[in-house]
Amino acid sequence: PTFDTMGLREDLLRGIYAYGFEKPSAIQQRAIKQIIKGRDVIAQSQSGTGKTATFSISVLQCLDIQGLLALGDYMNVQCHACIGTNVGEDIRKLDYGQHVVAGTPGRVFDMIRRRSLRTRAIKMLVLDEADEMLNKGFKEQIYDVYRYLPPATQVVLISATLPHEILEMTNKFMTDPIRILV
Ligand code: AMP
Repeated sequence: PTFDTMGLREDLLRGIYAYGFEKPSAIQQRAIKQIIKGRDVIAQSQSGTGKTATFSISVLQCLDIQGLLALGDYMNVQCHACIGTNVGEDIRKLDYGQHVVAGTPGRVFDMIRRRSLRTRAIKMLVLDEADEMLNKGFKEQIYDVYRYLPPATQVVLISATLPHEILEMTNKFMTDPIRILV
């Protein structure tokens, strides 16, 4: 198995190889093709299996950067992590416009409530380490965020374990999800 045969954009493939990855890991082989098809995906997988790159590669493949391509600026993907203490910085970056926003559920919801993170054009929600997030008491915030997303938002959920509360979440958030166990 190679990254070349997965239907990925040329500029993304170049980035993957330049970063030093040679072959897709097991979860990457199985999950990326489903995510980029637009399917909701539940990936049961531990840290160390290549799960972060699974959703990073998928998100980059799915980004609609037509507008940027027209401006000759297609390599410049704007990403922001809402995880620090500086709310003002989050607001400034979000107002500038971002293709990808990562963050803790509480801060992400705060940004939505302040209308700094506008949700109308969101296409994909990735819930990484979903079981850890529930353990840390983020359940309400995750549900709060979900309520603001467009109904057709694709959902990818990654979790090392699938306890009852996670299955409940997958039932509520996901449509006919593919389940991948690595
Ligand atoms: P994660 O499962 O996201 O915690 O990733 C574990 C480590 O594996 C990270 O250091 C990644 O950079 C690395 N990694 C992910 N995918 C690949 C790959 N296809 N080839 C080599 N290393 C990888």
